[in-house]
Order: sequence, then C-alpha cells, then structure tokens
Amino acid sequence: MLISWTMETSLYSVRMRASSHGRHLAGAERLVTEVDVCAVTAALMQRAMRCPHGPADEIYCSVERIDSQMVLYAALPNLTTYEVQDWQEGRRAAHCLLVRAGVSSDVAARAVSLLANGAGPEGTVMRGAALLVAATGERLETDLGRGVRVSRMDLAPEFRPILEHNLAAAGLDHHRVQEALILAGKVLRAPGIVAELCWSDATDYTTGYVAAPQFGYQRISALKPAGDRRGGRVFFVNQPDISLAALVDYLERQAILFNASGTISPPEKWMAHNE
Ligand code: AMP
Repeated sequence: MLISWTMETSLYSVRMRASSHGRHLAGAERLVTEVDVCAVTAALMQRAMRCPHGPADEIYCSVERIDSQMVLYAALPNLTTYEVQDWQEGRRAAHCLLVRAGVSSDVAARAVSLLANGAGPEGTVMRGAALLVAATGERLETDLGRGVRVSRMDLAPEFRPILEHNLAAAGLDHHRVQEALILAGKVLRAPGIVAELCWSDATDYTTGYVAAPQFGYQRISALKPAGDRRGGRVFFVNQPDISLAALVDYLERQAILFNASGTISPPEKWMAHNE
C-alpha cells in the first residue's frame, strides 16, 4: 500500500526466520510503514509455512519500531548480469570478480569452497553471512552458525513500483533479485567492505552474485548445480581498517531505505578472457 510519506512516518522492522531441527530454512527482513506491518508479517509467515524444504518446526517473526529520524537514504548499486555456461564457469567468474574487487586469490578460492561445502558447523548452511578478512581469510564472526544477519533495509515505499517496473523491463522480476539487490546495497555501504559473495541455499535457484563497492551488484547466472542444498554469503573486509563492532552494528542495526536505482545493464556473456 502506498501512503503519503514523510520523515515522521513510523517505520517498523519486520523479520522472519524459519528452521527445522535447528537447520536454517528461510529468513527475510523488511522495513515498512505502520499500515503495511500486518500484511507484510502475514506474507513472511506464509513464506515460512510454504518453505520448499519444510515443514518448519520453528518460525520466529518479530516486529520492532524504528526511529525514523535515524534512517539513512541511499541509491541502489548498479546491476550487471554475466551469463555463464555452467556453475563451474560461474565459480571461476566469481573468483575473478572477487580478485578484481581486492580479495586475495587464495581467500577468494577459500570462500567459494566454504559456501560449496557449507560454511556453518559440520557443513551446515549458516543463518547469516561469514565475515572474512580479504587479505588473510581469517574468519571474524563470533557465532559460526548464525554469522552476521543484515537487517533493517528495504525500498522506500514510493520507489518500490519504480524499481519493480525497471526490473520487470529487464526480465528480472524475481523477488530474490530485488531482495538480494537491497541486501547488497546495504552491505556495499558498510565501513571496510571489500566485496560480497552469495549464492542461495534453495535447491532450485542457482544464480548468485559478487558485489563490490566499485563494481556494484554483479549477477552470475549459475554458481551451483541444481538440487544442491548448500549456499550462503561471505562478506570480505579490510583489516585493520575496520572496527568489527561498528561494522556488525551497521549491518544488523542501521536502518536504510533505498530511494533511487543504479543502472540495470542487459545480460552479457562471461568471456573466458575475463579470467
Ligand atoms: P537466500 O538468498 O535467502 O537464499 O540466502 C542465502 C544465504 O545467505 C543463506 O543461507 C544465509 O546464509 C545468507 N543470508 C540470508 N539472509 C541473510 C541476511 N539477511 N544477512 C546475512 N546473510 C543472509
């Protein structure tokens, strides 16, 4: 629902996570106005109840009021899509894009293996992202099962129809693209961030991305074989430039609304000579 929006409008962070026998199944976060809280909560609950890898045996949904004076406004990153022949080429492309962004070659390779093998304890899927030092590969997150969960980000209400129209015009009207673009948009503005690597843990969604402050959100058409239950996110950071506490606080607590697009480029073939 679109309402007339002012800086004084109350905002609410709505978060959902679902699990089965302690295994992460689904999660989502929205930042919405008061009139949308009930509808969005119901939609996220429905998503949790219909989770393809379910049924969930625990679902948490929380609603928290946010001080709208503290909200940052920003533009989304540019979006590029690289078409690859298969997931093996996709992983080589991801490695190359990570190195271009400033991640050491060894660390980029280690991060790809980490997601391929399950980054959580005993090869499980993490609920959030792993945090790796870009130069050394040291893992910084304190809880290796939870990692860092980015939240309190969304589209500004008046901008949502514009982005949806632009994504649909580019053939990208999948809710996953929109949600990942918003998440990457927040991550790329974090202090000390060098890059992000992501592919989904959903068995039927094999597209992933590498995002970096200087290159934006770069989708890669395949990063894993269909049917693979593993996936996750890695955030690469510059050390000693960062304060870990400030970084995690920004990612988990700073509210941010996106009110402008970056460019959306047509898909291009990943060329082997790019590697
Ligand atoms: P998804 O894109 O929802 O399929 O999520 C893929 C993986 O990214 C999940 O398995 C989590 O490890 C991680 N993830 C999902 N949501 C978040 C989030 N809000 N913050 C950090 N990591 C996340």
